[in-house]
Amino acid sequence: MSRLLLLKLASRYKNLWLFPIVLVFFVSAMVSLVQLNQSINILDSRYGTSVWSLFQLKVELRRFYDTLSIYRADPSEFDEVSNRFDILWSRFPVLMKGEDAAQLSKIEGATAQIESIFNLIRSLEPVVLEQLPDQPEKAAMLQKALSPHIAAIDQLALGNYHYNNAFFNRSDNTVSQLQKQLVWLMFGLIISGLLLLLMVLRENRINRYQAEHDSLTHLPNRAFLRGKLTELCEKKQPFALHLIDLNGFKDVNDTLGHHTGDVLLQAVSARLLEHIDHEHGCITCRLGGDEFAILQPRYRHSKDLQAIGQAIIQALEEEFLVESHPCFIGGSIGSVVYPDHGRDASRLLTHADIAMYKAKESAPESTLMTFDYSMDAQINRRQQLHKDLRDALEHGKLTLEYQPIIGFENNCVEYFEALLRWHHPVYGHIAPPEVIEVAEQYGLAHPLGCWVIEQTCRQIQQWQEQGLQPLPVSVNISPAMYRLDLVATINNALDNCGLRKGLLWIEVTEDTTMHSIKEANEMLPRLQEQGVMIALDDFGTGLSSFSHLQQLSIQTLKIDRSFIKDIVDNPTSSSLVNNIIAIGHDLGMKVVAEGIENQAAADILQQYGCDLGQGYLYSRPLHADLVPDFCHTYPAPAAGINTTHRGVC
Ligand code: C2E
Ligand code: MG
Ligand code: MG
Repeated sequence: MSRLLLLKLASRYKNLWLFPIVLVFFVSAMVSLVQLNQSINILDSRYGTSVWSLFQLKVELRRFYDTLSIYRADPSEFDEVSNRFDILWSRFPVLMKGEDAAQLSKIEGATAQIESIFNLIRSLEPVVLEQLPDQPEKAAMLQKALSPHIAAIDQLALGNYHYNNAFFNRSDNTVSQLQKQLVWLMFGLIISGLLLLLMVLRENRINRYQAEHDSLTHLPNRAFLRGKLTELCEKKQPFALHLIDLNGFKDVNDTLGHHTGDVLLQAVSARLLEHIDHEHGCITCRLGGDEFAILQPRYRHSKDLQAIGQAIIQALEEEFLVESHPCFIGGSIGSVVYPDHGRDASRLLTHADIAMYKAKESAPESTLMTFDYSMDAQINRRQQLHKDLRDALEHGKLTLEYQPIIGFENNCVEYFEALLRWHHPVYGHIAPPEVIEVAEQYGLAHPLGCWVIEQTCRQIQQWQEQGLQPLPVSVNISPAMYRLDLVATINNALDNCGLRKGLLWIEVTEDTTMHSIKEANEMLPRLQEQGVMIALDDFGTGLSSFSHLQQLSIQTLKIDRSFIKDIVDNPTSSSLVNNIIAIGHDLGMKVVAEGIENQAAADILQQYGCDLGQGYLYSRPLHADLVPDFCHTYPAPAAGINTTHRGVC
């Protein structure tokens, strides 16, 4: 049996261990009591034995006396007299020597009395054996001599018999006192043992409560949920589980502080208890952070699942007033049903988690997603991609392609954008956003980002060696790269390839920048000082506010492809783009339009005064070897690139 199994068994039957311990305690206490009683009895019987010997002696004397009376009436009975005399004589060696004699010596006057009787008996021997057969009248003389001794020994035995009875009442009865004390001690021991048992059981209950409950909300925690799920699975009755991730909780935490975040979590748990547990007979648990779980033990139909899901969403979407701040949150809910989506706790939790992540894709809108096995396939793919991406990164299986950005005014290639490419042996081409998502999810985004920067620098160096005029290349920065050491990473990469500053630019997204506005405010000016041009990518799809845009050290706005796509046919898109270009210029920025696929779109953008364009109209992303040829079609401006002013051309 493995050590782990033993430990599991030990913790599962923790309470049972207590019973043998307490049993041993009780048995020891009882055995001690019984033993004490036995020793008292032995002591008592020793005392009783010696008194009993006195009574025996008295009985033998009395019998001899009575035989003499019979002999006086009927002188033919001498044999009986002789027998009795012998029996009486035989008593004395026992009484005067050995263990009985030692015991008798403890009774005051007993030894002297016995010796005196023995002397009398010895002195009477000639009379009894020689004279009495012929002179039966001597029997009376003998009886007379014996009488006082019979009375004396009777007195002695009776006196000491009373003395023995009073054993427990003696004023110096130490043994009996000790016995009483011991009984009280035993009683105390048993009571303290019982108290100890109660305390241990109580402590155990507290420990168990703490191990199975969350300290902030006092709701059952993940350990409790697992146990409960296992229990329900064993019953083989259908039930449902809903995992909830709060939408917008991070924003509350970031803007109003952790204390308010904690109060909000308590308010959420109170509301779920009131609206879900009490009204629908469910069990709400907090699994950690802003993740909750609701166990729905009564489940008959998929309608029940929807009903609870809607009730949860309704409960969460209602306004929360936290320390007088109105907070609006929502929830992404992943639901599973036993046995359809798993037959044990682990499977059910994993599948509910997958469904919840799927629901999270629609955040901030509250969504309920029920697990289906196609989602599992997606997760498997993710895990496979994670493993293979690590390998691809280590073994140089990733590549970069370069897409030119063209100046509208001079029709020149102003710079390139480096775009990641990964051809997976099984899944084929993996879209870069998925690669980045996997990398971010599994902690590979930083090494991957560093590789992109280093590889880009090596490529610029190689193009220079091939005689190409040095052109800047911009790289996309993922959230994990958005740290202060980015400046050093870029500078080191340029230095290592002997490139001057200003040849590597970056593109950041609105969401990354706005979520880390503090870092952005510190880092972007430092990058700019080092000659790094910063473009805000996919503009219009994210979270940026104009006040932030104004503050940030950003030189270029890249209008997202989705706006450019229907600029020709859709007047709303067209005027939106026109306005974005105007705002960009008002903020002193250059504006790049992404995803230009036709000349008509290029014409409109040029008419709106857009500075630069990127799209299939000019070129698809190119393999590095094709870049020199392309540059001959779109020659770079002869004056080179000025990297010090706000602009790329
Ligand atoms: P992005 O930075 O906005 O890059 C432009 C995307 O638009 C590229 O897609 C490019 O191939 C595509 N594109 C350019 N012109 C056109 C066009 O005319 N029509 C259409 N339909 N598409 C056009 P790609 O290479 O699939 O990259 C997608 C996104 O993945 C990028 O969007 C960027 O956000 C991200 N990405 C790519 N490489 C990297 C990288 O090395 N690091 C990071 N962090 N993100 C990267
Ligand atoms: Mg980009
Ligand atoms: Mg873009």
